[in-house]
Amino acid sequence: MDLSSPRGTIDIYGEDIDYRNYIINTAREILEIFNYAEIITPAFEYTQVFSRSIGENTDIVSKQMYTFPDKKGRLLTLRPEGTASIVRAILENKMYSEKLPLKLFYIGNMFRYEKPQKGRMREFWQLGIESIGSDNPIIDAEAIWILNLFFEKLGFKKLALKVNNIGCRKCRKKFLEEFKKYLRPEKNKLCSDCRKRFKENPLRIFDCKKIDCTEVLKGSPDISYYLCSECKKNFEEVLKCLKILDIKYRIDKNLVRGFDYYTGTIFEIISEDLESAQNALGGGGRYDNLISDMGGADIPATGFAVGIDRTIILMKQLNIDLKKSDKKSKVYLIAMDKISQIYSTLILKYLREKEVVCDMNFNIRSLKKEITWARDNGYNFIIIVGEDEMKTGNLTMKDINKFKQYKVDWKNDKEKIIEIIGAQNID
Ligand code: AMP
Repeated sequence: MDLSSPRGTIDIYGEDIDYRNYIINTAREILEIFNYAEIITPAFEYTQVFSRSIGENTDIVSKQMYTFPDKKGRLLTLRPEGTASIVRAILENKMYSEKLPLKLFYIGNMFRYEKPQKGRMREFWQLGIESIGSDNPIIDAEAIWILNLFFEKLGFKKLALKVNNIGCRKCRKKFLEEFKKYLRPEKNKLCSDCRKRFKENPLRIFDCKKIDCTEVLKGSPDISYYLCSECKKNFEEVLKCLKILDIKYRIDKNLVRGFDYYTGTIFEIISEDLESAQNALGGGGRYDNLISDMGGADIPATGFAVGIDRTIILMKQLNIDLKKSDKKSKVYLIAMDKISQIYSTLILKYLREKEVVCDMNFNIRSLKKEITWARDNGYNFIIIVGEDEMKTGNLTMKDINKFKQYKVDWKNDKEKIIEIIGAQNID
C-alpha cells in the first residue's frame, strides 16, 4: 500500500496547526469588527456552478478542475474557489431581498489540479470575504483595508498592494478591440495557450507567466484610458478612500486576476520580502455581473480570498513569530504507577474545571523521560503523583523551564496550583 498522500496534498499538524489557528483567529477578530458573518458551503458543487461563473477559458476551468460524475451520473466538481459557491448559496437560500448588503466570510479547502511546488498545491485552504449588494467604492476600499490590515496584524512588513480597474463589460469591450489590434502583429511571439486565448478570451493572456508573453504585454495599451466615466469615477473614489485610510498601493495596469467574473476594481497583495513566484498572499475584486449571470437579480458585489497554506509558509520563511499572548501555561501530571494514575484523574478533573490546559502520562516511564517529554511538548509545569503524595496529599509541582519547585497541599489548599500558574502565565 502506498502511504504517501496524493500529489499536491499535505497533512497539517504540529507547529503548522498553531500557525493556522493563529491566522484564522486573527481573521475572525478583524472580520467581527468589520461586521462579517461566517458561511460554510459544500466542498463540491454541480460543475456548472464553476464553469459558468469562473469562465470556460480560464486556466482553472479548462485545466485545473477536479470533475467527476457521481453514481447517478451527475457532474460534480471539487470547489476550486469560494465565490461561485457562495453566490449559488445566496441565490438558493434567497439570502438577498431585504438582507442586503450582506457581508460574509468563509474558510474552506479548495482543489486545483496544478503543477505542485512550494506554496502551490492541489488541495489548499483559503479564507475569504464576500460583500454583496453595494456598488459603493467605500466597500471596495473596505475589502482592501481588511486584506491589508490582516497581513499587517500577522506581522508581515514589506507588503505590496497592487490595484487596477478592468472596467465594466461596456468599456472593457473597447479596450479588448484595441488590445487585439496591438497583439495581432505580435501573435507569433505568444505561447500556444495564449494564441488560443487571443481568439477566445484575450484578457486571459495577462494571466500567463511565460517570459515571451509578458515581454509582449510590456507595450500593450493601458486599460485605464478606455474606462467609461462611471468606472473612472469609481476607481478614483476607491483610491481616495485608500489615501484617507493611509493604505499604500501601487496601480498595476497588467493586473487582471484569473477569473472571468471580475469587473471594475481588482487588487492583490504580495509579500515583497520574497522573490518567489508564489509570493501572492491573496487578492480579489468586484464581480458586479456574476449574480445576474447565475440567474439572480442585478446585484453588485466584491470580495477577496487569501491562501492560508501560503501564508503559513511565508510566515515561517520570514521568521514571523506567533504572538505569545495566545500561549497558556500547561500542566503535566506524572503518575508513578497505575494506582497513582487513577488518583491523578481527580487532579485532572479539578484543573480542567478551572480551564487549565493539562494532561497526564498514560504509560509509565522513568521520571526523567517524562520530564523531557513534557518539555518537548510545550508543558511548563509538572506535578508528580506517587504513593507518598497520595498518602500525605502533599504534591510537588515544578516549573520545568525556570527550575522552580513548589509544595501544594492538595487536600486543604488545592487553589494554590491555580495561583502558581496564574502568577507564571506566559504573556
Ligand atoms: P485566487 O483564488 O487564485 O485568487 O488565489 C487567492 C490566493 O489563494 C492566492 O494569493 C494564494 O495565496 C492562494 N492560492 C491560490 N492557488 C493556490 C494553490 N494552488 N496552492 C496554494 N495556495 C493557493
